Amino acid sequence: MLALGGNAMTNAEGRARPDDQIAAAEVAMDAVAELIAHDVEVVITHGNGPQVGNLLVKNELAAAVVPPVPLDWCGAQTQATLGFVLMDALDAALASRGLEKRSATVVTRALVDPHDPGFVKPTKPIGRFLPADEAQVLIEHGEVWEDRGEKGWRRVVASPEPLDILDAPAVLELIRAGFVVVANGGGGIPVVRRADGSLSGVEAVIDKDLGAALLGVLVGADVLVVATDVPQAVLRYGTPEAEPIGKVTLAQMQQYMEEGHFASGSMGPKVDAVCRFVQGTDLPGVITSLDRIVDAVTDVGYAGTVVVPD
Ligand code: ADP
Ligand code: MG
Repeated sequence: MLALGGNAMTNAEGRARPDDQIAAAEVAMDAVAELIAHDVEVVITHGNGPQVGNLLVKNELAAAVVPPVPLDWCGAQTQATLGFVLMDALDAALASRGLEKRSATVVTRALVDPHDPGFVKPTKPIGRFLPADEAQVLIEHGEVWEDRGEKGWRRVVASPEPLDILDAPAVLELIRAGFVVVANGGGGIPVVRRADGSLSGVEAVIDKDLGAALLGVLVGADVLVVATDVPQAVLRYGTPEAEPIGKVTLAQMQQYMEEGHFASGSMGPKVDAVCRFVQGTDLPGVITSLDRIVDAVTDVGYAGTVVVPD
């Protein structure tokens, strides 16, 4: 189970023009093709922050002409577009190695609790910064915006816990049929179950790393690899006493988490995700950079931060 971070889908500065996204996907899928060349079965998930941010701007600017769509629709749209971009890049990388393997993307829903505390106190910042007067208009439309000082105001939404990946059974069938599957992009489309049993999308953003951990457990992955832009998680990050973490037990990593070594919104959820996967499976979880994923998976313990069961 491979979770791709923002840098796998944008250029180094986070720019997300179509050309930037295609170029980044080519680099990422080259690494995935190399894994497949090593006989590794791969399920891919990915972030979608910059892409959803772009869709929200289009929503805003075009609202007088075409109806804005809700956040869950933006999630579904980015799953489809990024899945398509990743599949094209992966097909090319596989073909260049003479490998024959088909890929598929699953538009994936993740179940959340309508009573998740996140809906009472939204914490996840999304989209672009706006001046106070423009934010005020959107607040009057029911959105939650926060004053972020000099940069302006920013919308915040709920980041609820993923309870279940509802389309995991489809992912599993595709894996069994030999497909490389792209699934649960952006953490999954958040849905709640109504009293009558039907599903309804909600305006929220699930953390993609936590979604990856859950999908990894549900499809029976042998290892969760969170690929980001740093080779390892680091203790005392950004201080002169910074120390990269290599192989570490689950209990030790949980202790580091409690001590507050990992920033919320960046390294924090990755460490949390890897710990949840290890806890749920008794199998290892890895945090490393994209260029080291082959080493990490073919010789777990050799590259990156590797969390192993106690
Ligand atoms: P992605 O976009 O790949 O999901 P993020 O940008 O959210 O990843 O998180 C990765 C970033 O987390 C790194 O670039 C680094 O700046 C930051 N970070 C925060 N705390 C730590 C830490 N303790 N160790 C390593 N990186 C950290
Ligand atoms: Mg990032």
